[in-house]
Amino acid sequence: MTQPRVIYEAKPGSPLEVDRRLYERLAEPTGRRLVERFVVPRRTGHAWPVRAGHVFRIVAVEGPQVADLNVWSLANPRERFWASRTRQLHRAHLTTFDRLWSCLPYLRPMLTITADSIGYGRDEHGGGCHDLLGTRCDPYVHKLLNGEEFDLCCHSNLVRAVAPYHLTELDVHDVLNVFQVTGLTPDGRYFVKPSAARTGDFLEFFAEIDVLCAISVCPHGDLSVPVWGPHAGDPLATCRPLAVEIWEPAAAHLAGWAPPSPSDYSGGHGLGLREPRQDDRSGGER
Ligand SMILES: [Zn+2]
Repeated sequence: MTQPRVIYEAKPGSPLEVDRRLYERLAEPTGRRLVERFVVPRRTGHAWPVRAGHVFRIVAVEGPQVADLNVWSLANPRERFWASRTRQLHRAHLTTFDRLWSCLPYLRPMLTITADSIGYGRDEHGGGCHDLLGTRCDPYVHKLLNGEEFDLCCHSNLVRAVAPYHLTELDVHDVLNVFQVTGLTPDGRYFVKPSAARTGDFLEFFAEIDVLCAISVCPHGDLSVPVWGPHAGDPLATCRPLAVEIWEPAAAHLAGWAPPSPSDYSGGHGLGLREPRQDDRSGGER
């Protein structure tokens, strides 16, 4: 049998491999200034800007709870987080030193994870924490599965959160499921386990560019109660708030960092050619 092969391999020095000493320094609390702290109540959403060079944390303040995170460039909301490519470039469950990449034609790191207090790793079922396998819960699938109207799904919480920024449902995109433990069963079905977060746990991000972030505090709470299927129950008692903290690192800790530029691919796509050659790897002109 052939062996599996990691397909998205980077050359040494690529932006996939961060300067770990730089990001360890940025994770250092010494000399930080708290810019803002707020609590997002259970079953709601909230959006907030983060300036390039600042750090923010999503914190479990009252016990386990999952959050769905969206990210846009603050200057241009067409540039937004690309969950599936991030999954391929890094892994299906993100942790410290992984980056959140933006969609085409931009393809640059928007955020870099600087600290993950959970450090879940891989469990005996192949599960991991901070999930990129799945996406947000939404009222359309909810109606499909349960036949009922429900307006507090993560998709809808994100829609309400970004409305003050003149964004709509069409801007909400595939998420990073923070604090959410998931995996695939042996026959390839998506599974969840109760959230691994405990009070005080956090996931921390460094903003590489100016971003608008939004989270939904998932109405499924800590995912310990099934919401769909024959054993469906009411997860309200497992729903808890989350806090967000935004920090400005000590200026000295930013030494050596520069905001990343969008991809410098020329953007030609072969459109100017009569018939692109299928073996053309050079990218040169003919
Ligand atoms: Zn949800």
